[in-house]
Amino acid sequence: MRRACARERSRGGEGVRAAVNPVVHLLVYLAAAVVFVVVAVGAFRRRGPRTATATSLGVLAVAGAWWSLADAVSVGPFDERVQSVAALASFPGVAVAVGAFACLGRSATGTGWIPSRAVLAGLSVEPILVTVTAATNPWHQLFYSGTAAATLGDPVLWERAPLFWLHALYSYVLIATGLVLVARGWWTAPPAFRRQRWHLLLASVVPVLVNVVNLTGAFGDLGDPTPLGFAVTAGVIGNAMFRQDFIAFAPVARDVLIERISDPVLALSPDGRLIDANPAALKLLLATAGPRLGTQLIGMPASLVMSCWGLFDADGRLVAAEDEPAHLTLVVAGTAMDLEVRASPLVDGRGREIGTVLVARDVTEVNAQRARLVEQLATIERLRSDLAEQAVRDPLTDLHNRRHLMERFGPMLGEAAGAGEPLAVVVLDLDRFKRVNDEHGHLTGDAVLIAMAQRLRECVPTGALAARWGGEEFVVVVPGADLTEGAVLAETLRRRCEAEPLGSGERVVRCTLSAGVAAYPVSGETVADLLLAADRALYEAKDHGRNLVRRAVPGGAAEDAGRVRRRRRHDDDVADEAAPA
Ligand code: GH3
Ligand code: MG
Ligand code: MG
Repeated sequence: MRRACARERSRGGEGVRAAVNPVVHLLVYLAAAVVFVVVAVGAFRRRGPRTATATSLGVLAVAGAWWSLADAVSVGPFDERVQSVAALASFPGVAVAVGAFACLGRSATGTGWIPSRAVLAGLSVEPILVTVTAATNPWHQLFYSGTAAATLGDPVLWERAPLFWLHALYSYVLIATGLVLVARGWWTAPPAFRRQRWHLLLASVVPVLVNVVNLTGAFGDLGDPTPLGFAVTAGVIGNAMFRQDFIAFAPVARDVLIERISDPVLALSPDGRLIDANPAALKLLLATAGPRLGTQLIGMPASLVMSCWGLFDADGRLVAAEDEPAHLTLVVAGTAMDLEVRASPLVDGRGREIGTVLVARDVTEVNAQRARLVEQLATIERLRSDLAEQAVRDPLTDLHNRRHLMERFGPMLGEAAGAGEPLAVVVLDLDRFKRVNDEHGHLTGDAVLIAMAQRLRECVPTGALAARWGGEEFVVVVPGADLTEGAVLAETLRRRCEAEPLGSGERVVRCTLSAGVAAYPVSGETVADLLLAADRALYEAKDHGRNLVRRAVPGGAAEDAGRVRRRRRHDDDVADEAAPA
């Protein structure tokens, strides 16, 4: 195409040619060639992973260098024959350069495209035909006719022939294709790629503009500036390449990422139609949409295609958002699949909403792990509370133990005192229990203790606390009960014991009990005082013949030496227990 311009200027013959300084032409072509060589070296050395963009750029630069050098020789201070061969030799350079430019444009759309063999074969047809035709005498006359062309005389005097025009048409078509693709790549580029694509577009437009202007004859006799235009192209691309790391950027084809990503990604149009889906999403949609919708799901209303996803409310509005993902379970090939779906608005470069992107994440395994964890935590909690319960229970009778009683007594007393209510304490001791063991055996003694515990559970009112104090002694704390009510409870238990033998199966023994009763506030105001008062009363009962209930009397009864000694032992026990509470 550039030669068409040269011809334009040479119409006037020698006189016109003399007006154009061939040295200027030569320098321009040489300068363009140098820039192309630099870009070619840069493109091939820095392309890193083999990308179509880098390779296209490299091939374009090599072809451009060839073209510029051939043009330089054709106007250089050489023999006319050398000039003629160089003029014909420029055609393959042009043919390859425009093909590479189209590939550059296609690869710059960011889809990770690489030329197929068919495309490469198709793009080589014209360069091969052009090379063969231009290099063969007399076929080169299909490009240029006239005596000068036939005899390989001064190229400036050659007349353009049909193949010249066909070649020019081919070149413009490929350049226009490349330009449209580069423009599309720029228009659709995500923000991160906008700047470099803009450079590419700018670089591509310059030589085309220069060439079009040159065709109008606007540059007059200043010479053909098309190579300069291409030098600008090479310079700008070189800048993009070296300064903005164009080659390193280009391999990150976002579409390829989306294609390869294992999470389903789909796009909906503003009116809710499915407009795109990556392979993972398509597979899922085909598995869940049901056979009646067929396989061509793109273009259909998403609420129809994804009806079982439950992502749309009654008005067809999406229920998922970017920060509020929807959680759903799909059954795919008989297996439940948990998905977390996020929806983000899809906006173009000017911020206009052009749809919605849905990104689904398979959280089946995560959910299963979470469920297992929750189950394990529940088991741990169960075991912990079992252990905690065991620590406060007496293993033989399953009543609360002394430790628990001492932990709870203080708070219960505090609550009663706070509410201005009384609180009764009953200390129970089986009479002559040692004898039971001695006469009937330890197992029978155990059965009696178990039965006594059960009887306590049956008789104590709700809210009362019954505990095994140790051995065959029990303590019952009854909030809200005064001394009389505590004594009534103790008397009830005593009577039942007297009337009904204790034990189970064949191990049944008649056994009585003695009880001492104290109450807050009349018998004392602390845990230790109340327990001591009840204990003293208990020993009053023992001393008065057993099978008796005795209330604590303020001031206490007369004590003989033996009773004092005996009580001391118990007083020490009680004082020890009460101290931490
Ligand atoms: P008293 O009427 O004065 O209370 O006479 P006692 O025999 O009941 O009193 P003592 O405290 O001398 O005897 C209590 C007996 O209780 C001693 C012990 O062998 C028995 N004993 C303590 N714990 C258990 C137990 O867990 N199982 C059995 N079978 N006997 C126990
Ligand atoms: Mg006893
Ligand atoms: Mg005892």
